[in-house]
Parts: sequence; structure tokens; C-alpha cells
Amino acid sequence: MTRFGGRRITTLLFDLDETLYQPETGLLKQIDRRIEGFLQKKLGMDKSAGAELRQKYYRQYGTTLRGLKEAHGVDPQEYCAYTYQLDVGKYLKPNPVLYEILMRIPAQKVVFSNSPRRHVYRVLQTLQIHQCFSKIFDIEFTNYLGKPHRLSYEMVMESLGVSGHECILLDDQPVNLEPARELGIITVLVGEEAKKNTTVDYKIEVVEEIAEVWADITGKELKKTGSDLL
Ligand SMILES: [Mg+2]
Repeated sequence: MTRFGGRRITTLLFDLDETLYQPETGLLKQIDRRIEGFLQKKLGMDKSAGAELRQKYYRQYGTTLRGLKEAHGVDPQEYCAYTYQLDVGKYLKPNPVLYEILMRIPAQKVVFSNSPRRHVYRVLQTLQIHQCFSKIFDIEFTNYLGKPHRLSYEMVMESLGVSGHECILLDDQPVNLEPARELGIITVLVGEEAKKNTTVDYKIEVVEEIAEVWADITGKELKKTGSDLL
């Protein structure tokens, strides 16, 4: 018997940044620098004041952007255009192995990210896995609430017409998995944080290990695709 009794899974929800690609790529660090730059330019904050503000808004509002919008009237479009203005291709390259794995999983795959849609799509395209996903739920979709706000998860599930019990969420942030677990979603922690002891259902170091997680949950190995015969 599998751990989840061969549960029927219809939907895989993937975080984007540092879940579908690894931290070593340096992409998120660069976005962080752009956010620092934005705070300096817009609010005249130096690096340490900016970092403090981000921590504060993260705790208070869930995301820096929501804090900036609520407390400073920052235009989200302007923030996103500035902070995500970078050459993704400098940091990421196509991941055909991940493409194969995702294509073999017989369930819908969607991205659920606190980043804006344009960035999500650019990352998926650069990794060449955009065809694997049927939908993108970005920060705007949740009216800049984002993860880990429980309402954001409910909005995504309602839009997909699915219940928690038929979903898996993969994310590199333990805090983002907590509300998911409460909603009955199977939680998979991806990356470095996974080494530490947290209350998640699965811990994997890289997203490609979803193949094993899938087999463990459903009791079914992933089928080979045509390209394996080449
Ligand atoms: Mg992430």
C-alpha cells in the first residue's frame, strides 16, 4: 500500500523561483538586487534599511510588494517591471530532463507563484518547459496577496475547480506549504530547506525527484514517452 493509499491526483501546483530551477543559478539573487535597487530609488532606502523593510512587510503583508502597495501606494506594475527586468537567459538554460518528467505525469500542471506572469512565462520558456503547464497563477491573480496567505490557495483551487485532496504543491519555502497542508494538499518541499526537519509530506532536493514522489503517492510508475525510444 502506498502512503496515500493510491490517492487520485488531478493537479500539480508548482512554485516557480528556486523550485523549478535551482538557487545556484543566481537568478533570484539578481531579482533581490533589483528589489534593493527599487527601494533605494523609490523610497531612498539603503541596503540595510531596505532589508529591514522587506522583512517587516513579509511578516505583516506576506510579500514586499503588498506592503509597498498598501503602505506607500507603490504601483505594482511599476514595481514588477523594474524588479523583474533582467535577462533570464543569462541564468537559466533548457531542462529537457524536467520536460520529459513533467510530460509523463498524467495530471494537469500549473504554476502558483508570487512573481508576475511575465517573469513566470519567461522562466518557463527559457527552461523550455512552458508546454507542460496549462495555467499560471501569478501575484496579480491573488490581488497581490500571494503565498502563504490561505485565501490565495483557495482562489487558485476554486479557479481550477479542484479540492485539496487531489492536489500536490511543490515549493522551496516551508512557510508556503503550511496553508496547503491545512487544505488537504500533499506538500513537497524542494531544495536546501528540505534537509531541515519540517512538517511536510515529502522532501526532495531537486524538482526532478517528483517522479519518485508521484510513484509513491499514486502507486504508479511514470510511463516512458516516445522520445525514450530514440
Ligand atoms: Mg520559491
